[in-house]
Amino acid sequence: MGTDTPQSHRVRGGSLPHHWTRVDDPTAESVVASYETVIAGGGPAGLTAGYELAKHGRGAVVLEADPRMVGGISRTDEYKGYRFDIGGHRFFSKSSEINALWQEILGDEFVTRTRLSRIYYRRKFFHYPLKPLDALVKLGPVRAARIVLSYAKARLRPIAPERSFEDWVVNRFGRELFATFFKSYTEKVWGMSTSEMSADWAAQRIKGLSLTKAVLGALLGGRKSKRGEVIKTLIEEFQYPRLGPGQMWETARDRIRELGGAVHNDRRVVRIEHDGSAVRAFLTVDAQGRRCRYHGNHFLSTMPIRELIRAMDPPAPPEVVRAAESLRYRDFLSVVLIVNRAETFPDTWIYIHEPDVLVGRIQNFKNWSPDMVPDHSRSSLGMEYFCFEGDNLWTMADSDLVALGRREIDAIGLARAEDVVDGCVVRMPKAYPVYDDVYQDHLAVIRRWLASLGNLELAGRNGMHKYNNQDHSMMTALLAARNILGLGRYDTWKVNTDAEYHEDGDGPGSDRTGRLVPRRVAAAEAS
Ligand SMILES: Cc1cc2nc3c(=O)[nH]c(=O)nc-3n(C[C@H](O)[C@H](O)[C@H](O)COP(=O)(O)OP(=O)(O)OC[C@H]3O[C@@H](n4cnc5c(N)ncnc54)[C@H](O)[C@@H]3O)c2cc1C
Repeated sequence: MGTDTPQSHRVRGGSLPHHWTRVDDPTAESVVASYETVIAGGGPAGLTAGYELAKHGRGAVVLEADPRMVGGISRTDEYKGYRFDIGGHRFFSKSSEINALWQEILGDEFVTRTRLSRIYYRRKFFHYPLKPLDALVKLGPVRAARIVLSYAKARLRPIAPERSFEDWVVNRFGRELFATFFKSYTEKVWGMSTSEMSADWAAQRIKGLSLTKAVLGALLGGRKSKRGEVIKTLIEEFQYPRLGPGQMWETARDRIRELGGAVHNDRRVVRIEHDGSAVRAFLTVDAQGRRCRYHGNHFLSTMPIRELIRAMDPPAPPEVVRAAESLRYRDFLSVVLIVNRAETFPDTWIYIHEPDVLVGRIQNFKNWSPDMVPDHSRSSLGMEYFCFEGDNLWTMADSDLVALGRREIDAIGLARAEDVVDGCVVRMPKAYPVYDDVYQDHLAVIRRWLASLGNLELAGRNGMHKYNNQDHSMMTALLAARNILGLGRYDTWKVNTDAEYHEDGDGPGSDRTGRLVPRRVAAAEAS
C-alpha cells in the first residue's frame, strides 16, 4: 500500500518510533502506522510543517488525498508536457523568513519575472492597475467624453452614504469607468453583485489608485506610498520557480523524505478519532477504498475546516457541525488550450473585461517561465472560470469546456479557434474561502470547540478558512510546527496579511484576518 517505504522501527532523535503493522483482514484498517506528528494535507502548509519537523529530526507524516501530486492549489499540473498552475502563482512575500525558506528549498531554480498583466476590453489592452489617461485615449473620444462627464457628476454629487463596492468605485472613478473596468470582472470572481459587496473592501483593495493618485503616479513614476511601502497591486517583479510552483512543493516533499520524514499520497483523511480532549488517530481512505489508521502524539490539519468537522469521531456538538456546514467556498476551473502559435500576447496574465464571455482571466504560461512548455513553437493558455461546485460550468463535460474556451479565445480575438490544437480542464474545488456576513461567528464557534482537542493544530488557507497566499499559509504552518516542537506557544490566528506574527497587545486595529476579500454590505455596516 503506502507510497513510501515504511520506515519500520527506525528511531530518530526525540521522535516517537514509527512503525507499520500489517494485519490480515484487507477490508479493515489494513495498515496501522504511528508517527510523532500526523499532518493532513500536502499543500504548502502541510509540507512546510512537515519540512520544519523533519529538519528538527522529528518523525512526521504528511497525508495527501491526491493520488500523485503535492502542492494543493499551488501545485503544477501537466498535460502532454505542458505545465500549468491552478491560476498563476507569484512568489512574493514581505516576510524575510518565508523568502529565506523558498531560497533554501529551491535556490537558483527561481526565475525573476517582470509582471505584465493588462486588462483586455473590446480588443484593446489597458494598463492594470488602471491608468485613467491611458484608458481615456484608448476608449475613443465619445466614450472618453462620457467617462469625463460621469466622473464630474460623481465628484459633484457623490453617492452618500457610501455603502457598497459599487458606490465606492463610482464616487472615485465615475459610473462609466466603473461599468467598464470594475463591475463585470469583480462579479465574475466573487459570484455576487458589486452592489452587495461592502465599500470597505474596495477602499482597502483599490487603495492608492484613485483617479488623482493614478494621474500623479503616472506623471511622477513613483511606486512607493508615503511610508515607503510597495503598493500591493503594483508589484512588478516577482519570483517564480522555473518549472512552476509545483517544483517548490515537489522539492519540499523530496527534502522531507531525505530528512527521514514521510509524505504519503492517496491518503484522504476521512475520520478524526478523538476522546474529547485529544486526537488519537487520523483514518485515511485510498482510491481503492483501503483504509489506514495513523496514530500520533500531535496532529496538524490543513484540510478544509468543514471537512475536518465532518470527519470528527465521535461527532462534534450539533452547533459546531452547523457552524462548519455554514462555511462557504468559491470554486475555480481552468481550461488549458494548446495554441499552435509561438507568440500570442506578451503578458503573464490578462484580466478579461469583455462583456460577452464567461472567462475571467487568461494565463500565458510560457511567459511565466519558458520551461513551462515543451515546444516553443506553441503556447499554452489557461482560461480561468470562477464558478460554484455543481453549477453549469462546473458540471460541463471537459470536451464542452475546451470547446467553450476555444470559442471564447476566438471571440475576443486573442487567438484563432483553428490554432487551438488541444486542451484539457482542471477543476479546483474550494479555491476561495468565502467571507460572508456570518463566517467569523461560525469560525468562533468551531475554534472554541477545537480548543478542547489539545494536540490538534490548524494551519493554511482552507485549513483556517482564510484567504491566504502561500507565504501566509506557510507562516501559520511554521508556527504550528514550532508549537509541536515546543519552541514556543504561538497563536497561529495572529499571523497577519504580510505573513508576520503579532504578539498579544498589537491592538484591535491590527489586521489578523488574512488577505482582503469582499464582505456583504450588511456585515460591513454592522461592524
Ligand atoms: C486562482 C488562485 C491564484 C493564487 N495565486 C497565488 C499567488 O500568485 N501567490 C501565492 O502565494 N498564492 C496564491 N494563491 C494562494 C495559494 O494557492 C494558497 O495560499 C496555498 O496553496 C494554500 O496552501 P494550503 O496548504 O493551506 O492549502 P491547499 O493548497 O489547498 O492544500 C491543501 C492540500 O490538502 C489536501 N487535502 C484536502 N483535504 C484532505 C483530506 N481530507 N485528507 C488529505 N489531504 C487533504 C488537498 O488535496 C491539498 O493538496 C492562489 C490561489 C488561487 C485559488
